[in-house]
Amino acid sequence: MQKLVIASNNAGKLREIGAILGPLGFEALPQSAFNIPEAEEPYCTFVENCLAKARHASLHSGLPALADDSGICVDALNGAPGVYSARFAGEPKSDQRNNEKLIELLQGQPNRKAHYYCVMVLARWPEDPQPIIAEGAWHGEIIDTPRGDGGFGYDPYFLVPEYGKTGAELPMDVKNGISHRGKALAQLVEKLKRGAA
Ligand code: IMP
Repeated sequence: MQKLVIASNNAGKLREIGAILGPLGFEALPQSAFNIPEAEEPYCTFVENCLAKARHASLHSGLPALADDSGICVDALNGAPGVYSARFAGEPKSDQRNNEKLIELLQGQPNRKAHYYCVMVLARWPEDPQPIIAEGAWHGEIIDTPRGDGGFGYDPYFLVPEYGKTGAELPMDVKNGISHRGKALAQLVEKLKRGAA
């Protein structure tokens, strides 16, 4: 088994990624096992921040590292909240205040198109010149009134037209099959199987 550190402290993500990478020969270890300090995420693109997180985790663990970064991009707001999705309404981070701010900014705006985006980076060592990069997008529309109590973050306001449901109304297994994160993970697995790098 090839040890791999996952640059995340989210237990749900760690379980999901671990279960998928196990059969591919990777033993996924949480970054909490290595006392890794918080990485700086100073960039305005998801991929740059994700590369920074993967390099940082690899540097501090001495192992290959997998990082992910995600958020929601709204067309009428030039892609905002983007990389600031988690803290759109400032500190401390709050889904409720983030959603209130988003709906406020879209008052009177007819263009409601938005998409979630997720990128994953696997760096084999800190200065890997060819990290594996996988990405996925999930398209929908922002609605004014929340619906559903599943999911998290912006899901109650994110309507998926093909299903006539919000991200918070879709069962988790359905969401995982069509979401930005699900697509990025599937692309990563595809690239690992092909031996990309
Ligand atoms: P992270 O990359 O998982 O830390 O996500 C960053 C932020 O983007 C989250 O705090 C949410 O605000 C938002 N986000 C990312 N993915 C989703 C999702 O699937 N549903 C709802 N919000 C999401």
